[in-house]
Amino acid sequence: MALIVQKYGGSSVGNTDRIKNVAARVAQYRGHGDQIVVVVSAMSGVTDGLIKLAKDIMPLPSEREMDVLLATGEQTTIALTAMALHALGVPATSLTGSQAGILTDGVHTKAKIQNITPKKIRELLNAGNVVIVAGFQGETPDGHITTLGRGGSDLTAIALAAALKADLCQIYTDVDGVYTADPRIVPGAKKLNEISYDEMLELASLGAKVMQSRSVEFAKKFGVVFEVRSSLNDHPGTIVKEESKSMEAVVVRGVALDKNQAKITIVAVPDRPGVAARIFKALADAAINVDMIVQNISHGSGAPTTDISFTLDKPDLLKAQKVIDGLQAEVGYRQAIANEKIGKLSIVGVGMRSHSGVAAKMFETLAREGINIDMISTSEIKVSVIIDLTKGEQAKKALHGAFIG
Ligand code: ASP
Ligand code: MG
Repeated sequence: MALIVQKYGGSSVGNTDRIKNVAARVAQYRGHGDQIVVVVSAMSGVTDGLIKLAKDIMPLPSEREMDVLLATGEQTTIALTAMALHALGVPATSLTGSQAGILTDGVHTKAKIQNITPKKIRELLNAGNVVIVAGFQGETPDGHITTLGRGGSDLTAIALAAALKADLCQIYTDVDGVYTADPRIVPGAKKLNEISYDEMLELASLGAKVMQSRSVEFAKKFGVVFEVRSSLNDHPGTIVKEESKSMEAVVVRGVALDKNQAKITIVAVPDRPGVAARIFKALADAAINVDMIVQNISHGSGAPTTDISFTLDKPDLLKAQKVIDGLQAEVGYRQAIANEKIGKLSIVGVGMRSHSGVAAKMFETLAREGINIDMISTSEIKVSVIIDLTKGEQAKKALHGAFIG
């Protein structure tokens, strides 16, 4: 008898028919004699709808009350899912995050799980029940409801799998798994049978969003092996696990394009100690997340100057421009130029650690397509370039063709 944690995302429980489908799948697994813990999200659109209601009342509602409000989304789904199982004659009991023993810190709307005591879950499982747990929520030690940040049901599932030492953790979604590239854009994109935690994290943060990054980090830390698969069919999905020797044979696991980046170039910045520190401290103080940074070689003799370019998330661009404008008098640069029409294109794979010439092949492929590279950054398992946004999809297809086929 195996203990299985299954998580169903918002689209998988998006209406009552889908919830009945979920119940049928759960009933089938249980029919094999396994113990099942089901974690569900709010029905798709519900969390956004609740946020909108709150903002209609006031622009900046209390975060504690936001958590009380948002937790109702998942609470709706657990009850409906339990009922759908009852309708099939399967004993099932729903639990809120707090009833399931999920304790968090008190940082409302993005609480961190501190401890899980799955006593009630175990009792209910041992009594023959399917246990349905509300994702995305917990409670503080003194009893306040908290939520775990957008997409947090993934984290609930991974953390429960760790706490229960589950034999299997399945993350059900509306795609068949993790792909080598977005199959809607790259026709030859293939579903991966397996991927390492680090590759999955890079691909998620590079715009191939499949799961909440924090949950993948948590899985890596606690060694939770999980499978991403579709709730709409029975195809096997993608197994996410620790890197293995055989994974290194593949140089590039996936190609990702992030269209949500913008760039600022600060022209003719005085080249003296402390200037870069001043600029990036001011951006950090404004909670702006800077990604790539490039500083040119300095030019001019008497008082040398240099150009500094950096990328950031597009929604932060206006805020960042204000910060940089505010520094002009103090820092004394000539001009700041913003560009929203960029894309960050990346290739990711643990095989890069042991293969050479990967970056050269990437640049050659782009050159052959006549695509200009604006900025470059590399890590052990990733090469990223900034290019013109209008060339993004063409470039992505070319790289996929060159590295994956
Ligand atoms: N319902 C929450 C959200 O929409 C949590 C989740 O879906 O994982 O972010
Ligand atoms: Mg979700």
